[in-house]
Amino acid sequence: MNVAVLGGGFSGLYAAHRLAGRARVEVFEASSAPGGLAGPGADGGGFDRYYHFICRTDGAYLALLDELGLKGRLAFRRVRTGQFCDDRLHPFSTPLDLLGFSPVRLPDRLRFVLGTFAARNRKEWLDLDRVPARRWLEQTFGRKGYDVIWAPLLRAKFGPEAEEVSAAWIWHRIHRVTRSRRVPWARESFAALHPGTAVALEALAGRLEARGGRLRLSAPVERIAPVDGRWTLWSGGEAFGPYDALLSTLPLPVLGQAVEAAEPALAARLGAFKYLAVRCAVLRLKRPASPYFWINVNDPRVPFAGVIELSHLHPPGPFRLVYLPAYLAPDDPLARMPQEEFLARCLEPLPRILDGFDPGGMIEARVFGDRYAQPVCTVGTGAALPPIALLPGLFAFDSFHLYPEDRTLNGMIGVADRAVAALAGDQ
Ligand SMILES: Cc1cc2nc3c(=O)[nH]c(=O)nc-3n(C[C@H](O)[C@H](O)[C@H](O)COP(=O)(O)OP(=O)(O)OC[C@H]3O[C@@H](n4cnc5c(N)ncnc54)[C@H](O)[C@@H]3O)c2cc1C
Repeated sequence: MNVAVLGGGFSGLYAAHRLAGRARVEVFEASSAPGGLAGPGADGGGFDRYYHFICRTDGAYLALLDELGLKGRLAFRRVRTGQFCDDRLHPFSTPLDLLGFSPVRLPDRLRFVLGTFAARNRKEWLDLDRVPARRWLEQTFGRKGYDVIWAPLLRAKFGPEAEEVSAAWIWHRIHRVTRSRRVPWARESFAALHPGTAVALEALAGRLEARGGRLRLSAPVERIAPVDGRWTLWSGGEAFGPYDALLSTLPLPVLGQAVEAAEPALAARLGAFKYLAVRCAVLRLKRPASPYFWINVNDPRVPFAGVIELSHLHPPGPFRLVYLPAYLAPDDPLARMPQEEFLARCLEPLPRILDGFDPGGMIEARVFGDRYAQPVCTVGTGAALPPIALLPGLFAFDSFHLYPEDRTLNGMIGVADRAVAALAGDQ
């Protein structure tokens, strides 16, 4: 079989690696480097543009790292999480911390703890697909718990779309993170590849090429069309193929644009899926920023949603890595302003959040951004998802296919395995 994989992010590389033994595989990646959202942030530094933490429950990803000989590059570490609200940083790691969380009254805190246990133990989500997150969160955690904790988090993650998000999505998010505790009352423990996900991407690309696969960089897919029962692909104005099958890992609307001339109805369906963009300031600091791995920031004056000090998951090194991510509607002024201005907006509130933060201790600050960063998983997403086998010879998936899971590398492996099996006729 002759197969083209569209997109050389983590999913494209992983799927191509799995296909390489069974087919002649070519990967088309628009950027000059592979990796997509999981790619590295600095030449030579090897650390990620966006933080990538691994949960204990991420079995498929841990198995892949083992297969690639990279398990020694990570260790699970117990971490602290915090919540910045009312101009104060509150510990927010354990049920005991939640019971001491002063912005809500004691009965609401108790309800919050019980709600977290219930979400941790729940297994079914289909009934939550049609329920707005707000309704379910208010029922589970109480009105005050919703207003003070969940509403700002949903706004930070989904901006203007927050009220549309489904209960199934937020349930799974709580479920995954709380399952990363050894015991329900302990702190969560997470891991991160050191120095970054780039080591896994390089290993995947290396294995692909060792088995005759080809990775084409700076090769954006412009158009695809079926010709005599096979598929032709255009990149840089040149036609490639014909291919027996195409496997797309592009964001669904990007695939829609590529297939529009051949299949306008399908293109319209794919174009209806909405995504937020991300902008993320990444700081390299001389000293630790705080004792917290993750701080949720619930303050409308602050442009970012959290402070993630990934170095808490890495062995000690010469600098500390801190990420300040903002999820934004594509037309949000923050998404469009010059990088220096965005960075200045991020640095301004930091001393209020991180006690003693000293801008003089900063080695380097950079800003990264991506248009298709966060699928907006609204009510009914589960029912609206297109099948992976879209048309004869055309297979496609992206982060939406993880629903109700949030997008993770671990989740993408499961979906990519399904796509590869469907393409190879195993299903
Ligand atoms: C801020 C942030 C934090 C995250 N944190 C975590 C975390 O802690 N843990 C975790 O597991 N996951 C995390 N993720 C999710 C993880 O990064 C994604 O699930 C994963 O990288 C998705 O990979 P992908 O290959 O499916 O998509 P992408 O990375 O989007 O890859 C798509 C690829 O297609 C390419 N492309 C686009 N258009 C074209 C075209 N026309 N032709 C050819 N190529 C094209 C792109 O350049 C890209 O390389 C995070 C993501 C973000 C944004």
